[in-house]
Amino acid sequence: MSNYDVIIIGGGHNGLVNAAYLARAGRKVLVLERRHVVGGAAVTEEVFPGFKFSVCSYVVSLLRPEIIRELDLPRHGLEILPLDGTFTPMPSGDYLWRVNDHAQTRREIARHSKVDAEAYDEYGKAMVDMGRFVKPILGMTPPDPTSLDPRGLLDLLSLGRRFQALSDGDKYNQIQLMTMSAVDFLDQWFETDVLKATMSASGIIGTFLGVRSPGTAYVLLHHYMGEIDGAFRSWGLSRGGTGAISNAIAGAAREAGAEIRTGTTVSKIIVKDGTAVGVVLENGDYLTCQVVSSSVDPNLTFLHMVGTEHLPDEFVADVRRYKFRGSSGKVNLALDALPDFTCRRGPGPHLRGAVSISPSVEYMERAYDDAKYGRYSRRPYIDIVIPSLTDPSVAPPGKHVMSCFVQYAPYHLKEGTWDEQREAFGDVVINTIAEHAPNIKDIILHRQVLTPLDLEREWGLTEGNIFQGELTLEQLFFLRPAPGWARYRTPIKSLYMCGSATHPGGGIMGAPGRNAAQRILKETGASS
Ligand SMILES: Cc1cc2nc3c(=O)[nH]c(=O)nc-3n(C[C@H](O)[C@H](O)[C@H](O)COP(=O)(O)OP(=O)(O)OC[C@H]3O[C@@H](n4cnc5c(N)ncnc54)[C@H](O)[C@@H]3O)c2cc1C
Repeated sequence: MSNYDVIIIGGGHNGLVNAAYLARAGRKVLVLERRHVVGGAAVTEEVFPGFKFSVCSYVVSLLRPEIIRELDLPRHGLEILPLDGTFTPMPSGDYLWRVNDHAQTRREIARHSKVDAEAYDEYGKAMVDMGRFVKPILGMTPPDPTSLDPRGLLDLLSLGRRFQALSDGDKYNQIQLMTMSAVDFLDQWFETDVLKATMSASGIIGTFLGVRSPGTAYVLLHHYMGEIDGAFRSWGLSRGGTGAISNAIAGAAREAGAEIRTGTTVSKIIVKDGTAVGVVLENGDYLTCQVVSSSVDPNLTFLHMVGTEHLPDEFVADVRRYKFRGSSGKVNLALDALPDFTCRRGPGPHLRGAVSISPSVEYMERAYDDAKYGRYSRRPYIDIVIPSLTDPSVAPPGKHVMSCFVQYAPYHLKEGTWDEQREAFGDVVINTIAEHAPNIKDIILHRQVLTPLDLEREWGLTEGNIFQGELTLEQLFFLRPAPGWARYRTPIKSLYMCGSATHPGGGIMGAPGRNAAQRILKETGASS
């Protein structure tokens, strides 16, 4: 039996960020990860010999620049390669292709609508302004609006002041973003259907809502806030897959002295007199510590590991109410050659960015209609990336890996089980891609189909929610994961939370892990 200052449950990227900051502050830290590899949903695995997949998350943008800097992640192997643009094939035989080159994108949008080309600039500026307003919030511990603690009140006041300093237009935009649907919000700027459909897709990622559902405009902003090398709204690929991000963070944590054990499942958090004092592993081992920091979701942390007998009834009710509602799946393909899109033939640069199957707003909304009634979308929204074009190290020479993120795949199916439906769901995804790239079926060497049930079983994501809980307004900021418990603390003394289920939520961001480390250090005093 060994005594640690902090035991961290889960070695996803947030658990690892938490470990790195705590170890750097001199704490004796142990990370316990259930899987054979660190990274959680940010992981690279050689699923088929020679083909390395970013099995779950596949693009990066939200990773906080201060974490990259402070943990010196490039020295630990992090390299982000830019992802150039989004290509949307259209059934008419045309396409929409937005790239990182501003002038080229303007010309392309003008081909569809001159008005929209003008509006695109204004929209981009407004979103950058909104992103700048929200960005500092990502790094703060949410104040508790019900508390009279002067520090919390000061935080609220400073938020109010920053809101006050926005221009009138930005104030209205901010309120609209918090309340409107992605499509209604975009309707205010644009008239081209395919442009609105593709842009609105960011509003529904990981959320059981449609592009016309109120609240989805905020998720749009959440995905807009990323930056790479100081450029807002840019997305990139991590060389070696998203697992390379987790490995770089793990490298920084180990260098600072953290111990990381994989293949180690925590089954219980030991609570004595209302205080967390250690954990019990699946093999029965008992490890003691001063602080437990959990990067797994509230369902696993509280209902499974702590036990309701140690928790206030009201809190248990809030945890039970917390919405997961997984809505996404993933299909990873090993390819013998590149897909050939009918609307733009051949292996051009349009394949180097994302390919978005989002041809119209109606298509997107119909995809959601299926999910509302307990079916996976018969014609889903698909976000496709072919990382081997940018980073050839992930596939054998001449071959490719293709990542297909799919919505909607509701966790609760009306008929049948996901184990029965898995391959049929995979077929729907392939058939949908084949409508635009007919050669796809002939070039698939292997395929991996991940349903929300698989995400739950293998990654511990309850109901398969990719963000450890929906990013809907009622579960954000001082409400994430539960009202009154958004400050990384929990009703159990010395038990903290540090994963995506805490502010500011999911995505490869690292902010929850960093914010929680700062809170733990502040509340538990000098290094022991
Ligand atoms: C299919 C999919 C696609 C996504 N695409 C993107 C994307 O392209 N870009 C992006 O930014 N984000 C994306 N995301 C979201 C992003 O990957 C997650 O929000 C983020 O990785 C979560 O990190 P985390 O450290 O908070 O939690 P997790 O990654 O969930 O880590 C928690 C860890 O805890 C471990 N664990 C669970 N139970 C136990 C236990 N009992 N004992 C020990 N360990 C345990 C798990 O194995 C896991 O490793 C995607 C997610 C998924 C699932």
